[in-house]
Amino acid sequence: MTQTIQALRLNGSERIDPRNPGGSLTRNLAVEHITTPEPGPGEILAEPLFVGVCGSDSSASLGKSNFSWVERPRTIGHECSARVVAFGPGAQGSGAEGRDTEGWAGLKVGDLFTPIPQRGCGDPRCRGCRRGRWNYCPRKQILGFHRDGALAQRMVLEADRCVPLRPGLSPQHAALVEPLSVVTQAIQRKCTIRPGDDVVVTGCGIMGLMAAELARAAGARVAITGMAHDRDVRLKLAAERGFTPIVVAPDQPLHERLAAGVEALDGSRFGDDFEDGRVDVLLECSGAPTALAQAGLCVHPEGTICVIATYPDLVPFEATAFTRAGQQLVGVMGSSREDFVNAQLLIERGVFDPEPYTRPYSFDNVIDALADSMAARTTKAVLQIHGA
Ligand SMILES: [Zn+2]
Ligand SMILES: [Zn+2]
Repeated sequence: MTQTIQALRLNGSERIDPRNPGGSLTRNLAVEHITTPEPGPGEILAEPLFVGVCGSDSSASLGKSNFSWVERPRTIGHECSARVVAFGPGAQGSGAEGRDTEGWAGLKVGDLFTPIPQRGCGDPRCRGCRRGRWNYCPRKQILGFHRDGALAQRMVLEADRCVPLRPGLSPQHAALVEPLSVVTQAIQRKCTIRPGDDVVVTGCGIMGLMAAELARAAGARVAITGMAHDRDVRLKLAAERGFTPIVVAPDQPLHERLAAGVEALDGSRFGDDFEDGRVDVLLECSGAPTALAQAGLCVHPEGTICVIATYPDLVPFEATAFTRAGQQLVGVMGSSREDFVNAQLLIERGVFDPEPYTRPYSFDNVIDALADSMAARTTKAVLQIHGA
C-alpha cells in the first residue's frame, strides 16, 4: 500500500492581482494527497512542525513573473522547523554501540532543525560555496521552489541543509528563523548602524518589521513606511512596537515626507532637522521601484542604503547624485549557516521576539493563511503542520 500525505501544491501560474483578483486569490493552489516522498542518499525524511508563509510563496502563488521559473506542480514552503523521521540509504551509522539511528550531519531520528532553503552547488570551483555562502551561489537550489518544500505532512531534503535547533528555541518560534536570518545578515554583516542613528525602513511586511526590530536593537531610532492600506494592521503594529509610522503615497514620497517634518513617537523631529529630515541608514524592504529610486534623497551624504528586496521592474537610479553624496548601496539575498545560527541566538536571547508578529493557523486552514498573506491581512502566517 502506498502511503500518502497532504501537501499544498502550487499548480497554476495564472497572473492574479491581489487588489483586483477577478476570482479566488488562491486559484493557483490546492491541497492534495500525494505519495509520501522517499529520501535518497544524503537525504532525510522529515516532519515539518511549523511553517511560515513567505512573501515569495505569495508572489509565486499570484503568478508573478519573477517566479515564472518555478516548475508546477510544486509543494511550496521553506521557512520551517521540522523533525527528523528517517534517513536515506547509506546514512545509518554502525557504531560500536550498534546504534542505527545516527545519520547525516550528526543528526539523529527525532532531532529538531531548521533547513537552509538556499543550497549551493557544492562545486569547489564555486566562490560562493567555497566561502560557505550558498545564498550567493549562482546555481543554488531553493527548497519549496526547485524541489518540494515544507507545506506538507512530510518532506524530503538534503541533510546538509539542516541547522540543528538550539535547545532554547521553540519549534513555533523557529519557523521565523529563516526570514530573521536574512535580516540578521543585513544588520550584522552588511551595514553599520551606530547608537543614536536615525534609520528608516521602507516597507512594513515582516522583513521590514524584523529590520526595524534589529536596527533598534543596534541602537537606532527607527521609522517605518507603509501605504494607506497598511494603516490598520502593519503600521498599527509597528507603532505599538515603538516605531514611527510614515504613510507614503505616489504623490507623497518619503523624501518629501521627511523634508516636511515627520514627528517621532516622542514628539521630536525624526531625521536631521538641518538637512531635510535625512537619515543615516535606509533599509529597503518594500520591493517598490520608487522606494529604491528615491532612497538616495532620504539618506545623508556617506549614508547607507541597504536593499533586502527584489523588484518586478527596472529601477531608475540617480547615479550621479549617489556618487556625489558618497553613499553606499548594498544588497542582501538569502542567508547562510552563520546567519541561521545568529538568528536563532537573537530569538533565544530575546533580542527578537516572534510573538507579536506571528499569527497561527492550523494546516486545515492553509489556503486561508495564503489568502491572508497575499492580501496583507497578516504579518507572518505560521501553519502548524504537526497534528494535522
Ligand atoms: Zn522566505
Ligand atoms: Zn556554488
